[in-house]
Amino acid sequence: MANQMCESCMMPFSKDPGVRESDRYCSYCYKDGKLCYLGNDLKEFQRRAYESMVSKGTNPLLARLYTFLIRFAPRWKNRKP
Ligand SMILES: [Zn+2]
Repeated sequence: MANQMCESCMMPFSKDPGVRESDRYCSYCYKDGKLCYLGNDLKEFQRRAYESMVSKGTNPLLARLYTFLIRFAPRWKNRKP
């Protein structure tokens, strides 16, 4: 079965307002043939995701919840500490 959410930020694809280029990542995380954030720093990625969500009008409390959940995304959960 195909993934139903982004492997990088956990956003459900059903909520993705953009056009996805990848089967694994949402339109925010993956653009122009590559991941937008290529680093390996979960905290940094979370900060960017949070700011991006709030700037798009997401309730800050919800944005904090979504940001917390990012650590369980496939891209990050198997990452070495
Ligand atoms: Zn994503």
